[in-house]
Amino acid sequence: MAVIELRGVSKCYGNGPATVPQLDLEIRDGEFMVLVGPSGCGKSTILRMIAGLESISAGDLLIGGHRANDLPPRDRDIAMVFQNYALYPHMSVFENMAFGLRVRDFPKLGIERRVRDAAATLGLSELLERKPGQLSGGQCQRVALGRAMVRDPQVFLFDEPLSNLDAELRVQMRGVIHRLHRQLGTTSVYVTHDQVEAMTLGSRIAILDRGVLQQVGTPLELYNDP
Ligand code: ADP
Ligand code: ADP
Repeated sequence: MAVIELRGVSKCYGNGPATVPQLDLEIRDGEFMVLVGPSGCGKSTILRMIAGLESISAGDLLIGGHRANDLPPRDRDIAMVFQNYALYPHMSVFENMAFGLRVRDFPKLGIERRVRDAAATLGLSELLERKPGQLSGGQCQRVALGRAMVRDPQVFLFDEPLSNLDAELRVQMRGVIHRLHRQLGTTSVYVTHDQVEAMTLGSRIAILDRGVLQQVGTPLELYNDP
């Protein structure tokens, strides 16, 4: 079953040519779909339309089989991880991770338990009282992951989450994300311009060029039919 479906989805910024012309794409239950392509090809735009952070110019977005073009972001059971972490600098690690649950009126005890569980999984237990300014880039990205995890959403969206990390940390965090997906099985859409990242993380990969889908398949299928 498709958890997310894009049917003839287009995006135009202003009056120029479409950034994304007529995209058809299905994200299936439990898969880890990687959108890969050069910088500026529209990957982030596609993710932001799925999240509801960017309007859709034409076509339909379906979430769980229902048309969701105009559904407010907060009403989508989706959590997004950004390249620049997007943490609140004045809040502690705990408060940053709890925020998405607080604004949804989740019970206090449940928030505490979820944040502590996620922090333990991500090796953040000792850092819960710190502010983002006192953390390394890798630690910030773990907090951003934790903030998405505690929501236990139907879908994770990742927008180049490792691009600001050095090579060693990138490999390490790739492992963390891979393990999380194996454990949780949460349907994921992951955007990157890094082909190695795409091949190692993706259960399926969609290759994009200028907003147009070139190929979709498992890493093995793409490897055998380059
Ligand atoms: P990618 O994620 O693949 O790097 P983006 O989706 O960020 O690509 O951008 C695709 C194209 O759309 C780029 O040419 C970018 O400059 C343009 N673009 C992205 N966001 C906006 C915006 N808010 N307004 C105008 N143009 C935008
Ligand atoms: P990313 O690679 O994560 O998409 P960008 O630097 O391309 O980062 O974009 C950062 C932010 O600026 C995004 O919210 C994007 O939508 C917006 N943006 C990108 N290109 C443009 C543009 N040409 N005009 C206005 N906003 C843009």
